Amino acid sequence: MKEHEYVCQECGQQIEVNAPMREAILDNGCPVCSAPARADDFCDQ
Ligand SMILES: [Zn+2]
Repeated sequence: MKEHEYVCQECGQQIEVNAPMREAILDNGCPVCSAPARADDFCDQ
């Protein structure tokens, strides 16, 4: 399974994430700036 890429709309950080990390970011926000994450901020590779 390919990983996802998260791009933070607030700080611009791009992070490759797997499915569990995606869920964690949706729950907790951006790992860098803690901005709330939306499903739209993830793109499939
Ligand atoms: Zn951020």
